[in-house]
Amino acid sequence: MKIGVLALQGAFREHCWMMEACGAEAAEIRKPDQLEDIQGLIIPGGESTTIGKLLIDWGLMAKIQKRAAQGMAIYGTCAGMILLAKDIIGSDQPRLGLMDTRVQRNAYGRQCESFEADLFVKEFGEEPVRAVFIRAPYIEQAGPEVQVLAEVEGKIVIARQAKFLATAFHPELTNDKRIHQYFLQMIQE
Ligand code: GLN
Repeated sequence: MKIGVLALQGAFREHCWMMEACGAEAAEIRKPDQLEDIQGLIIPGGESTTIGKLLIDWGLMAKIQKRAAQGMAIYGTCAGMILLAKDIIGSDQPRLGLMDTRVQRNAYGRQCESFEADLFVKEFGEEPVRAVFIRAPYIEQAGPEVQVLAEVEGKIVIARQAKFLATAFHPELTNDKRIHQYFLQMIQE
């Protein structure tokens, strides 16, 4: 399986290593034609306003939306979760808008208020997921087609809608491969 990792800005290298550790081929994506032969795309954490602007400047925005409509799976972490959302509270920044979610950016405060938490996720068994939140968003509200996989204090931090997956935190910064493996499973379903 070949998975693309959007490599415009942010934590993309760690996602490539994760994909390789899960037995998939990883490809850094910077040009529209590189989207043709991948089965899934990861949008990393970083700065969503910057990544969104670069998606337009580099001709990737419309092409990703087209590939998504053709069935390409997408996993967004943190800034990637923001870019997948239809609705970003108080912002008209560029976005893919593929998930029926309403997100709050920088929802837990400033960079220094970043934190780690243990998440219990039914799909991943008894062992909690150690989640690293870095100036993270959360999903405040989600439509009926969105499956909620985990919450922190009543706010959604892992969500899935058909072939789209979003986490508010950064699993590529830990050694826990379960979320990346789950994404690969979603593609095979
Ligand atoms: N605060 C960033 C944003 O709003 C996201 C942070 C991250 O991706 N770790 O885009």
